[in-house]
Amino acid sequence: MKILVTGGAGYIGSVAVEELIKTGASVVVLDNLSLGHRAAVHPDAQLEVGDLADQTFIGQVLDEHKPDAVMHFAAKSLVGESMQDPCLYLGDNVANGLNLLRAMAERGIGKFILSSTANLFDRPERIPITEDERIIPGSPYGESKYFIERMLHWFSTIYGMRYACLRYFNAAGASEERGEDHDPELHLIPIVLQVALGQRDKVKMFGDDYDTIDGTCVRDYIHIVDLAQAHILALGALDKGNCTYNLGNGAGYSVKQVIETAREITGHSIPAEVAPRRAGDPATLVGGSDKIRRELGWQPRYPALRDIMTSAWRWHQAHPNGYADR
Ligand code: UDP
Repeated sequence: MKILVTGGAGYIGSVAVEELIKTGASVVVLDNLSLGHRAAVHPDAQLEVGDLADQTFIGQVLDEHKPDAVMHFAAKSLVGESMQDPCLYLGDNVANGLNLLRAMAERGIGKFILSSTANLFDRPERIPITEDERIIPGSPYGESKYFIERMLHWFSTIYGMRYACLRYFNAAGASEERGEDHDPELHLIPIVLQVALGQRDKVKMFGDDYDTIDGTCVRDYIHIVDLAQAHILALGALDKGNCTYNLGNGAGYSVKQVIETAREITGHSIPAEVAPRRAGDPATLVGGSDKIRRELGWQPRYPALRDIMTSAWRWHQAHPNGYADR
């Protein structure tokens, strides 16, 4: 099977590529390398460098490689940035997704896996959040993913496209070879580990007055290898129909608990101070993954926060400058 992975040079996409290649799939990566890293692309994958804004380029890649399915990771994915620059999200993320879908429909490529998000669920009515929770995107980022989910509905209705929407909670951790390297780094776990590596003085905790166990935001961290496995299972199940799954571990950890876990793993004191809230952050996001466990037999290999963070710590120690070390 040949799979096109957009954003396959990025954090989650590169690990999905790694896991796909382990299954024997042939993989083509489409990435503009604006956020991803050439060195993150698995050596057995073919890399096509270009932009999803370029409809001609997408067509050329699809015509040359004729993939059986597409996994779409390439997108801007920062809640905070989307609250400051919504057009990057409501514009680029949405338009690029439509470009890709249009090019696929024109060529009869009918299988699509969407990297979606738990940011669809601002102010959820029930925790853990299940797939039937009401959708209130928490930011233009979440909204952009929801637009693409809706496009998929119509592309399925009109063109018969099969799709899976995988709504991730907080992707974290690392495989042996691939980990998290953003510039600038804005995510909690890598920031905390950068403090432990002596690359930062302290971590700022964005808000300590949320309605949570200790006032800091609670998130459900999920290992990227487990996420990648869910993509592979969803791809295999598309013949049976479309699906939408929430992907979390069903356990929430506060920002303070993440920092405390990092202190235990690294032995570093990791100074932390309270800072103002970050716009667009819901207080608690914890996902129920019963549906994907039940229907696809998904079983996370690394559900414990400590194991997830230990894998990240190992990668950050081995690559203190991220992919620049390669
Ligand atoms: N966070 C924080 N300090 C930081 C970065 C993040 O307190 O320097 C908080 C953030 O407000 C959120 C949680 O950590 O509540 C996880 O944020 P992250 O950016 O890692 O992922 P997100 O939840 O935005 O996908």
